[in-house]
Amino acid sequence: MLRSINPYTQKEIYHTEEFTSAQVEEAINKADHTFGSWKTLSFSERSKLMLAAARELKKNKKEYAETITAEMGKPIRQSVAEVEKCAWVCEYYAEKAEKHLADKIIHTEAEESYVSYEPIGVVLAVMPWNYPFWQVFRFAAPALMAGNVGVLKHASNVMKSAANIEKVFIRAGFPEGCFTNLPIGSDKVENIIKNRKVKAVTLTGSKPAGGAVASAAGREIKKSVLELGGSNALVVFDDCDIDKTVKTCIQARYQNTGQSCIAGKRLLLHRPIADAFTEKFLHAVRELKSGDPMDEETYIGTMAREDLAGELEDQLNKSVAQGAAILIGGKREKAYFEPTVVGAVTPEMSIFKEETFGPVIGITVFETEEEAVALVNRSEFGLGVSLFTQDFHRAKKLVPQFDDGAVFINELVKSDPRLPFGGTKISGYGRELSMDGIQEFVNKKTVYFH
Ligand code: NDP
Repeated sequence: MLRSINPYTQKEIYHTEEFTSAQVEEAINKADHTFGSWKTLSFSERSKLMLAAARELKKNKKEYAETITAEMGKPIRQSVAEVEKCAWVCEYYAEKAEKHLADKIIHTEAEESYVSYEPIGVVLAVMPWNYPFWQVFRFAAPALMAGNVGVLKHASNVMKSAANIEKVFIRAGFPEGCFTNLPIGSDKVENIIKNRKVKAVTLTGSKPAGGAVASAAGREIKKSVLELGGSNALVVFDDCDIDKTVKTCIQARYQNTGQSCIAGKRLLLHRPIADAFTEKFLHAVRELKSGDPMDEETYIGTMAREDLAGELEDQLNKSVAQGAAILIGGKREKAYFEPTVVGAVTPEMSIFKEETFGPVIGITVFETEEEAVALVNRSEFGLGVSLFTQDFHRAKKLVPQFDDGAVFINELVKSDPRLPFGGTKISGYGRELSMDGIQEFVNKKTVYFH
């Protein structure tokens, strides 16, 4: 049995029987059968359905958002915004898929030579609980528009949202089998990857989960895309607009109660403004409203599960034992973790080296640009980095020096359907969103007429 426990009330709000192996196989067979006809539809036929999915998301956003909040503790306004963003990605690919996948003519000595981008079939998505709708839609919208069909293994604690996502596609009029939710635990994933009808897999989550899935896919010679979290740095130079930067850094770290792969987890402050910035930052943290995630005024909800809050507490305690200083917060009550700021953080500490998946930020002070770059790149993760400076030339000069998949200047790292999204190093490989995302799960077929 898979159960969703509301982390705020501790009450069970949903349960569902797991699919048996036979049910999983049956669902994959149906998906593969649907692929046979789905791939033959024109882009405009698929677009109509994808736009209907966007309308469905907007129409029933409250219903979907309330389940997200109940299942994983996200403040309700942020859950509504998440559902609205899913409508955006559906609309984006409804409009752009045809252009992104148009034949690419390449002039050679042939009469005609080009690349065509063809769907590959059933793609498995293994998804996490932190953005239960968004993580899935940013896979599903491009995959389905490309002519593929999707099967979802969602995180065990958000199975009602998983069922709701399938409902969105059914309500929008998609053929049965285009998008299928598989209520299963992670132990069934390897067998799904082995199924000959499943052609590729994408996973968003932790490194151990990514390693397991990518190894299984590698053994079967199947493509995988991995998005495995990060430890983004927020690099604040002495010439930034301090008030604006404080606001942006607060959002970068504390939205979604800190449970985001692209959250700014390491605050790197230039010595000349370090004290003034810290003071304003602490003031802003004090203003963050914690409370009932269903309350419209709440900004900090509970973390998604008590065990995850416990892990964060361990990381914090270890860092304090190594010399870090808690400047504000630091306490935990079940799944609730106070917004926390930690000073005197060094690269050897847990909260610098590891991903902290909750409302805790560590401050490290730097003296020079070179030192800042070295601190950013010292992380094993490579999802993104934000620079805050009013010196355009400085920013331009520094951009190529970072290993990360994204550099945002005077802005938090955020996902946007129009821009590629993904990491380097242990943050994973492959790209989601934009043209790059829709081209991950297609056969790039070379065609040559002589
Ligand atoms: P996991 O990585 O364990 O879960 C993500 C997804 O992978 C879930 O659907 C999970 O299923 C599945 N999964 C887990 N292990 C395997 C496996 N061996 N084979 C196949 N599928 C698997 O995340 P957790 O919930 O345990 O969170 C732990 C940490 O992971 C967080 O603290 C954070 O650091 C990181 N994380 C990063 C995310 C990101 O956005 N990049 C999102 C979520 C977590 P099931 O739920 O059934 O175990």
